[in-house]
Amino acid sequence: MKKNTVVILCLLVFSLLSCTSSKTEIVTPAAQVLFSDNKAASDIIAITNNNGSNTDCPNTECIYSIGTPTRITPLRLNLPTPGEEIISGWRPPQYPVPLALGQFDHFYFARPIAADVVNWPVANYRYGGTELSPGITHTGVDIPAIAGTPVLASGPGTVVWAGWGLFSNTPDNIKDPYGIAVAIRHDFGYNGRPLFTVYAHMRSTNVAIGELINTGDQIGEVGDTGYTTGPHLHFEVRIDKDSYYNTRNPELWLAPPQGWGVLAGRVQNSDRDFSHNMTVSIRSIENNHEWNVITYGSSAVNPDEYFNENMVISDLPSGKYLIKISPNLTETKQTIISIYPGQITFFVFRPPEGFIKNNFSEYPTPAPIKAP
Ligand SMILES: [Zn+2]
Repeated sequence: MKKNTVVILCLLVFSLLSCTSSKTEIVTPAAQVLFSDNKAASDIIAITNNNGSNTDCPNTECIYSIGTPTRITPLRLNLPTPGEEIISGWRPPQYPVPLALGQFDHFYFARPIAADVVNWPVANYRYGGTELSPGITHTGVDIPAIAGTPVLASGPGTVVWAGWGLFSNTPDNIKDPYGIAVAIRHDFGYNGRPLFTVYAHMRSTNVAIGELINTGDQIGEVGDTGYTTGPHLHFEVRIDKDSYYNTRNPELWLAPPQGWGVLAGRVQNSDRDFSHNMTVSIRSIENNHEWNVITYGSSAVNPDEYFNENMVISDLPSGKYLIKISPNLTETKQTIISIYPGQITFFVFRPPEGFIKNNFSEYPTPAPIKAP
């Protein structure tokens, strides 16, 4: 079986937004992604081909390396070890949308990439991530895909932007960091509030402003336009206004694979403020696969009004997981939680207590939103 390594990475805007990279391996024709959770470093320092030399290689053949000048951290493929396949290379079909098993769930959107290829967010640069550059917070998720992959509408609605200039709100601005982008205002809202989805860095779009769109309609092709170093789809969910400052975490809005669930957490410091850029370790009890999720950075992103979270990881098979957080250099707290099919499991962590929920399937008490 032929395997092509595709590493995707996108860098956006002057201290405003950015997208990035992961190590992925795509196996055609039924693509599979194999994640590694190595932390990305702070800057782009090299673009090479698979031989590590050419700096002008075709995107799909390139390895994009990021790191510091003193410690190069190439984003290379990590082959899975036995037992990881269920996590890394295959997923059940997505639950039909809308899915809302809990009162405050809102899995309203279908995936913008079809299920015959990788259609889930990269693991090491999630919503709220600042791994690419300190002070730049990621306002969406990145889905790796080769150039030309169809981009699909996540829900029915009306096209309110199509083409260059979405971020700068300047039609035909070919310097816009989002590149060729589409924004859709959906036919449904959330508690009466309008919802939008955004699809960025496309090679082309085949829709126009005002066009009515149904779920699954093709609206363009994956590309690398705008501030990006390789083809992938940058996907955002926005509420109330079609604005960069009105995003929410798409991993709370995209329906999970059937039988799988989502973990959301609120990691606080001792003052009960959000603890930014904290590492949360999540390890499957069943197969020892481990993820590190970094809590949201301090700017640009917004928590869900109900969960008031600052970390989310979706696409977790139902089962038990060991969660570990180190609030300081000398202390690590841990607990075991369960992930349930089609549901969000929520936890709260703060020092000195550590994990303060005993029943993690219990939803939090609604609280006023607090800026991250
Ligand atoms: Zn992105």
